[in-house]
Amino acid sequence: MAQHRARDVNSQRARHCRPVHLRRRAGSPVTPPVPGRPAPELSELNRPYWTSGADGAFRMQRCPGCERVVHPPALRCQYDHAAPEWITLSGKGIVESWTVNHHAFFPGLPAPYVIAFVNPVEDIRARVLTNLVGVAPDDVHAGMAVRVVFERADTDDSEQAVYLPMFTPEAP
Ligand SMILES: [Zn+2]
Repeated sequence: MAQHRARDVNSQRARHCRPVHLRRRAGSPVTPPVPGRPAPELSELNRPYWTSGADGAFRMQRCPGCERVVHPPALRCQYDHAAPEWITLSGKGIVESWTVNHHAFFPGLPAPYVIAFVNPVEDIRARVLTNLVGVAPDDVHAGMAVRVVFERADTDDSEQAVYLPMFTPEAP
């Protein structure tokens, strides 16, 4: 009878593979190599946004008609249908809103981490969905001055190197 109970417990553990996986990682002295943050899928339209950080510059689209920063990248401005052009921004922004994620969705992205909307200072109407790095989740506040930092994504194709724009608190 006792043996049957033990087997039942083990089969239940096997079905709940996520908690077992976390316990094993936490107790292991050797951290296995893990992939980095997941990389976006590149298209002709979004390629400049995800790759232009190779030279450290933060580039977004701006409408030549109404001068709004257009984001995510688009073929036409949604306000006057002019064709946006790529420009280099300062990389400075302010935090509009954020949330702290406590669930480890990706092996290379340990929780907790901060997901935020950042407004570029050149046009605070524009919103960049990003991560905040180099800041404790409890220290994030609305209106916080941040600047862009790039993390090269773990991709196989060096011709399509992706540099993820993220933001960190501006030095005081
Ligand atoms: Zn426009």
